[in-house]
Amino acid sequence: MKRLSVVFISVVVFVLTAEGGEFSRLFADSTLRVDYALCADHGRVNAYRRGIRKFAGWAGRRHNLDTLALKGNGQVTMRSCRDGRVMYTQSFSTLMQEWLSTPESKEDNGAWEMTALMPLPKDTVEIEMTLTDMHRDTIARCLSQYNPADILVASRLPVMVDSVYLVRSLRADAIDVVLLSEGYTVAERDSFLTHARVAVDEIMSYVPWQRSADRWNFVAVFTPSADSGVSVPDKGQWLNTAFGSHFATFYSPRYLTTPCVWALHDAAEGVPYEHIIVLANTDEYGGGGIYNNYTLTAARNQWFKPVVVHEFGHSFGGLADEYFYENDVMEDSYPKDVEPWEPNITTLVDFGSKWRRLLPVSVPVPTPPAQMGKYPLGVYEGGGYSFKGVYRPAFECRMRNNSYPVFCGACEDALSRLIEYYTKD
Ligand SMILES: [Zn+2]
Repeated sequence: MKRLSVVFISVVVFVLTAEGGEFSRLFADSTLRVDYALCADHGRVNAYRRGIRKFAGWAGRRHNLDTLALKGNGQVTMRSCRDGRVMYTQSFSTLMQEWLSTPESKEDNGAWEMTALMPLPKDTVEIEMTLTDMHRDTIARCLSQYNPADILVASRLPVMVDSVYLVRSLRADAIDVVLLSEGYTVAERDSFLTHARVAVDEIMSYVPWQRSADRWNFVAVFTPSADSGVSVPDKGQWLNTAFGSHFATFYSPRYLTTPCVWALHDAAEGVPYEHIIVLANTDEYGGGGIYNNYTLTAARNQWFKPVVVHEFGHSFGGLADEYFYENDVMEDSYPKDVEPWEPNITTLVDFGSKWRRLLPVSVPVPTPPAQMGKYPLGVYEGGGYSFKGVYRPAFECRMRNNSYPVFCGACEDALSRLIEYYTKD
């Protein structure tokens, strides 16, 4: 038994050394940040590189570099110019792609911000950014090169920010989350820190995050706003805030987002970060969460705690909304002939790739609602804004209902796998 333990430890050390060596061979311990402008005109999309910079420190993963955990609605892929191999890839979603589902997008145009972070390569690379539609067809592609000798790649000195660590892991591969302040004046700094602590405590009280408490860093970065509160268009209230966020995104009253993605990254640059949570100083109800982009949540509303967990389920976990309404205006969000990439909904086109392996064979698919007591985990019709043709794993879940206290089994499993992917247990 003792001998086995020694062998096991030796193998682990070897693998870690080999992977760390591979990362060090290809990358510096620094970040390459590429900003994109996503331009849509009457449904046609073009993507352009808007800016490129590098700065010290890399907070992202150093393993699983060439594999995606989830497909997302877009991907950025770095390839070696020497041999074409994929050196790094990451997936994400954008608000612009949600806008494309609105009637307005067919008759209007707009430009949107997006930022990709990647480890800084030591050699010349090609960086491809692609956006895909709900049928997985590519709708925009931006190809660019990074050459380490290029003097026009801005080399940023360390930025001093007002930061406070709320949770600090001893692990080098811990997941780094930054909490940013939106709509807090200089005098409201302490209020922001209080809300940040509440948010972190609430997130970490949920399984599976609770089970992985030693794998997380949470750091609050305070950026003052000129005005207190955030913009509420329904009330004619437009304020001057750090990140220009507002409710009524796409005219949906409770949908709180910001168009200023580059500013979020500017504010976070002084600390190691992979995931962004923005707390909005308002008692209005609402929020938004976009996969590998950001979570934005109203911090003074009574539903703050469940909403920040729900939105982080979107932005960190890539989880879909499990709620739906009869005659929902978002009814066509998920085409019924494609399996969505989100792990907690299915159209049954490829259910085997979802939570089927978690179900006993006796569970009927689909599962009749009348049997929800017998089958806490099943395949219940309704989800992803659709009353028909999209199925969710459980009758209730944190991704469906603010009053429900836990994630369903499929969401919990999906989040656990993602934490493993980032931290490689
Ligand atoms: Zn769920």
